Amino acid sequence: MNLADSSTLTTTLITRGYRRVDDEKDADLLIFNTCSVREKAEERVLGRLGEVYQYKKKRPHMKIAVVGCMAQRLGEKLRAEVPYVDFVLGTDRVFELPDVIEGIEGTSPVMTAFGHENMDMIMPSKETSFSGFVTISRGCDNYCTYCIVPYVRGKERAHSADQIVGAISKLVDEGVAEVTLLGQNVNSYRYGDTDFPRLLERVATGTGIQRIRYMTSHPKDLSERLVDVMAEQPKVMQHIHLPLQSGCNRILRRMGRVYTIEHYLKTVEYIRSTLDYVSLTTDLIVGFPSETDEEYEQTLAAVRTIRFDGAFMFRYSVRPGTTAARFDDDVAEEDKIDRLNRLIKLQQQIGEEQNQREVNQVRHGMVEGFSRRSEQYYRARTEGNKIVLFESQRPLESGTVVPVRITSADAYTLHGDMMRVN
Ligand code: SF4
Repeated sequence: MNLADSSTLTTTLITRGYRRVDDEKDADLLIFNTCSVREKAEERVLGRLGEVYQYKKKRPHMKIAVVGCMAQRLGEKLRAEVPYVDFVLGTDRVFELPDVIEGIEGTSPVMTAFGHENMDMIMPSKETSFSGFVTISRGCDNYCTYCIVPYVRGKERAHSADQIVGAISKLVDEGVAEVTLLGQNVNSYRYGDTDFPRLLERVATGTGIQRIRYMTSHPKDLSERLVDVMAEQPKVMQHIHLPLQSGCNRILRRMGRVYTIEHYLKTVEYIRSTLDYVSLTTDLIVGFPSETDEEYEQTLAAVRTIRFDGAFMFRYSVRPGTTAARFDDDVAEEDKIDRLNRLIKLQQQIGEEQNQREVNQVRHGMVEGFSRRSEQYYRARTEGNKIVLFESQRPLESGTVVPVRITSADAYTLHGDMMRVN
């Protein structure tokens, strides 16, 4: 979502006459669009602010803006801590940056109040010339006890289905072939009579887009109807990112996740029995307050049973202001690190085995360009959101979809042979 917002902000600034420069040293305005979800992300911003201060000392007219979640969380406190920051704009105020820079009446250098967002305006963004993002809803009403998002992004608000369909059609006119629908919890999307499965159907049937992806899902809200729509609509890619967080019911309850491991397993069973092929990825947290060794083992057991294709894995870090910040952060740091390392090792092995299962299958990859390591290979993204590398005798344009027979795989990448297209 931050990538999408950054891209929209860039477009907004360019429309107002600003120009993007390649080297940050040459910029008159440096913008940090920030994340608060983990302590490390905020520490990194503070570190980077310290680094860029040297440019500002040499070129005092340079302005520095911090926008997004960290700006929302800290507000004035950020300027007290880092006085050379010129503008601090919270999550609802990001797109007002051009007005703020120009000192337009009613704006001020620090703005964090909610309720100023114009939900009638939808701002699709292009990630590349062939792929784009459309934010379908903002904010979250779930208040998972470890998570800062509802506090920094506010309550859930949805864009109308008409706006979303219109925005995607506009992206298609600009040459975009794949769109990702974004929301903190897309499964709880509702605008009037339109819920998320209906929205997906409308996007699949009412726009010329070739491929549709979405993020992120919540296990308590992912419905069987949504899975049915995925089975019925070939434009919807067969990848579901479904954050599990823990395999232990007591920890899930303490996290405020409102589902049990049994419910999660049932959902996975429905997904796998309904879709011919699906890639399933997840998020996992280890070392949540009071998590015992035995409860951590339940997460490992769940990972072994479910066999995710990929996972983002973290050790718990306290976010001030959340409910869990009041819990005793009692799992020793070395235990958290040990639990995380063991989980990563297990998931790597399973991820590789899952990728091996793709060998001999034909996947359809959307070409993204050359492999990062060698121009001998093209890089494409499969239906399951996996990267596949392959050679081609003829030049391929980014955004083209090509059939590739998978010939080998490691934990992170597939390799294959491009098949002849008639
Ligand atoms: S669903 Fe939970 S983890 Fe996800 S954004 Fe909302 S509060 Fe945070």
